[in-house]
Amino acid sequence: MTTFHAIRSKRVVTPNGIRAATVRLSNGSIEAITGYSDLPSGKHVYDAGDSVVMPGLVDTHVHINEPGRTEWEGFETATRAAAAGGVTTLIDMPLNSIPATTTAAALATKRAAARKKCWVNVGFWGGVVPGNAGELRALYRAGVFGFKCFLVPSGVPEFDNVSETDLRGALPILAELDAPLLIHAELPGPIDEANKKLLNSDPTRYRNWLLSRPARAETTAVEMMIRLAKEFEARVHIVHLSSELSVPLIRRAKKQGVRVTAETCPHYLFFSSGGILSGWTAYKCAPPIRDSRNNKELWRGLRKGAIDFIVSDHSPSPPELKCLDTGNFFTAWGGISSLQVGLPAIWTELKGRNFSLEHIVRWMSVGPAHLAGLDKQKGAIAVGYDADMVVWNPEDSFILRPQMLHDRHKLTPYAHRTLFGTVEMTFVKGKMIYDRGRFVGAPQGALLRRGKR
Ligand SMILES: [Zn+2]
Repeated sequence: MTTFHAIRSKRVVTPNGIRAATVRLSNGSIEAITGYSDLPSGKHVYDAGDSVVMPGLVDTHVHINEPGRTEWEGFETATRAAAAGGVTTLIDMPLNSIPATTTAAALATKRAAARKKCWVNVGFWGGVVPGNAGELRALYRAGVFGFKCFLVPSGVPEFDNVSETDLRGALPILAELDAPLLIHAELPGPIDEANKKLLNSDPTRYRNWLLSRPARAETTAVEMMIRLAKEFEARVHIVHLSSELSVPLIRRAKKQGVRVTAETCPHYLFFSSGGILSGWTAYKCAPPIRDSRNNKELWRGLRKGAIDFIVSDHSPSPPELKCLDTGNFFTAWGGISSLQVGLPAIWTELKGRNFSLEHIVRWMSVGPAHLAGLDKQKGAIAVGYDADMVVWNPEDSFILRPQMLHDRHKLTPYAHRTLFGTVEMTFVKGKMIYDRGRFVGAPQGALLRRGKR
């Protein structure tokens, strides 16, 4: 493993703009940012040339599934994919692993399973499920960054969805802790209603899957959460916001001072429903990918700040569970594998839209770091911040071949697409751990706890 004392480049993305600079590193932190030619003598310097040096991405929405469903995705494979995608910190969702992270004991089990397997820094969200209100304080004390809940069935039996009554039990506790509550915002009512009309429809047609998860399911859930955030003065965060109709609701609530934030995901910005052929279940997720007009409005929501940031919602499964043989969108596992491709996918889209590298940093590092309360340590190339960085070439394009992916399974809707932006090197706490397709040394990512450095 190579420890560098400085990295220099013609394009370092700092909070004060993009410039030629030398970033000096010491004990895993950024010690100073000096002129491009101002190199420390007799020390290890990595010269990135024209490649971009940027804070590593922070991805606060990743499903790792270990222990319990390690055959879906595990710490070793997921964090390799993260490192290869320029993600230096990820926060694991509380469900799809067994146990689900709904008690302090379950968190200890997850941490034990993760030990010595993580190439990047890994933290954990806790879960709010019916009946675990009494566990939340202990779970928060044990180091989770906040909590996640579902308002519709989650897809796995050990993580039940909550009702408004459950939330009324949990939210006063979360408000007192000042812990964020992350919500899968879809309500069952509009989904059940839509499904009644689809009884004899063709389950291999994407349009029918889309119709079965109407925007109204999301907007009514967002409205409910805004109402509850106001009532309890709690922090709520809408995960994977998918519908243009939710954007004005969030914007208005923010203006009124409600403590609400929202994220969207690369797949809602990169793909649109019109391009999804019958039976192509690699695209299945919930809420669903919507049409191209919706797509544009999500970009506008990001530009105007109604949507705060972009994270992957990496949620793979074994290919068999994606029902590729039948092409049935209704029975296929809902989740898209994308941890390694978020940066190039978003950059490919940004290039044509008059956005800059600074938007990438804002939406893929600073914003998610802020949600997790990590914004004083991660998400910036600035003195005192952790030396978690990615070196990449935004002009370089490549065709994504499935064998390039480091996740456990290679099934992703991004396969065979041309993407811009090649990740060259990834540094975690000043150590180069990924170098053009090669992993260097051993997994040394930290298991993060809230409030600890
Ligand atoms: Zn998710």
